Amino acid sequence: MNIINPATEEIITTIQEDNETSLSLKMERLKKSAKQWAAVPVQTRAEILEKFVSLLKENIEELAAILTSEMGKPLQQSRNEINGAGAKATWLAQHATQYLSEEIMSVSDQMTEKIVHEPLGIICNISAWNYPYNVGVNIFVPALLAGNAVMYKPSEYATLTGIQIGKYLVEAGVPEDVFQVAIGEGEVGRALLDMPFNGYYFTGSYQTGQKIYQQVAKKMVPCVLELGGKDPVYVADDVVDVAGAAAGIADGAFYNNGQSCCSVERIYVQSAIYDVFVEAFVAEVNSWKMGSPTEDGVYITVLSRGAQLEVLENQVADAVAKGAQVLVGGKRVNQKGHYFEPTVLVNVTHEMAVMREESFGPIIGIMRVEHDAEAVALMNDTDYGLTAGVYSASQQRAETMLAQIDAGSGYWNCCDRVSAALPWSGRGHSGFGSTLSEVGLRAFTKPKAYHLRK
Ligand code: NAD
Repeated sequence: MNIINPATEEIITTIQEDNETSLSLKMERLKKSAKQWAAVPVQTRAEILEKFVSLLKENIEELAAILTSEMGKPLQQSRNEINGAGAKATWLAQHATQYLSEEIMSVSDQMTEKIVHEPLGIICNISAWNYPYNVGVNIFVPALLAGNAVMYKPSEYATLTGIQIGKYLVEAGVPEDVFQVAIGEGEVGRALLDMPFNGYYFTGSYQTGQKIYQQVAKKMVPCVLELGGKDPVYVADDVVDVAGAAAGIADGAFYNNGQSCCSVERIYVQSAIYDVFVEAFVAEVNSWKMGSPTEDGVYITVLSRGAQLEVLENQVADAVAKGAQVLVGGKRVNQKGHYFEPTVLVNVTHEMAVMREESFGPIIGIMRVEHDAEAVALMNDTDYGLTAGVYSASQQRAETMLAQIDAGSGYWNCCDRVSAALPWSGRGHSGFGSTLSEVGLRAFTKPKAYHLRK
């Protein structure tokens, strides 16, 4: 398999993909080691995962350079991702004892009742490329903390990063057999679905998630799906700092070149402040430097996958044909590398693909609305349900709206944000099940109820 640099379109290296034989050998190693790992005290497992975080930090320059070379995000954003993933992993490790230890629920003269959170066994994690550290640690860190062995399949667009993750987990003290990296494209992912894992944890597109869910259903094991989004933000007319809100939302839409599951993908602005908001938003977008991911100060760089350029071109063409106006950008850049101009569209409607289908790139539609109820209806007019945000001077106004929106996360005066302490979950085509928080730690366990009569 060729690993391509999306900024230069050159081959970085060529590596051997897994096949059925090598996957079976990896499975055997996982089987051999799973019980021993489960018997390691949770405190010790937590110390090992904290050591992993220290190793990521010690090697951040090398790791950021590898990540940027294979998926093209600005080098500084690669460093930010590794630091952010490290902070989440630390939270999970520091709360593992609290949430994974056995719980005594009641004690009487006759009877003790307790819950033991047993590991599932061997879990399979099929992962995405856009934030390989961030979405990876949401799964493999709690899985390991809970005492599971893990088959980790990084995306084919983040393979070198996946290999580094495996290397540093082992260096931190995870036994080599307990964490296996499956290398390859979709075919390798498909082969993993036929193997006897005790749980499937997938981060990726709705289209692939649907196939995985169908295929593993017959196994009767947990299946958690972290899928795509079409995340909306509403800006109400009582916002005081409109320019500040515009800058924050622009960052939420274009950070990582818009390739985030929780990127802002649709903006609704109340009439009274619409013109001021759009002017400030466009000024912010025009202030960014676009260039090679390794250049100092760049904010917009290349898309990881060349094929996405056509998706964005089609969304722009469809929108323009239906009456949208392009205020900034609108086309690919005619040079080597998968560059697409940051693009701002207005006069958009829900008849246009750009307001309905995941763009996963540096493109946004801004729509004028008259009142909160209209905004709520439009925000809910989607198959997805990952996050939604409301910018308003009033917390009560925002919370009243967010309560009516069918999404796993609600933001007031912020967006594109994840917290280790809060569950991360989608609804509808954004998937189901949760990672992170207490819920996400226990997602890798099966509870056993003990009824102990004296
Ligand atoms: P993708 O679905 O194309 O691929 C994801 C993984 O699945 C890859 O490792 C791929 O090799 C594998 N795969 C492909 N076909 C398969 C099959 N038939 N069976 C088994 N495995 C298969 O997704 P992607 O392009 O890597 O990621 C982008 C998508 O992920 C976006 O939709 C984004 O919103 C979503 N995402 C969601 C979250 C979240 O937390 N909800 C986080 C990051 C990304």
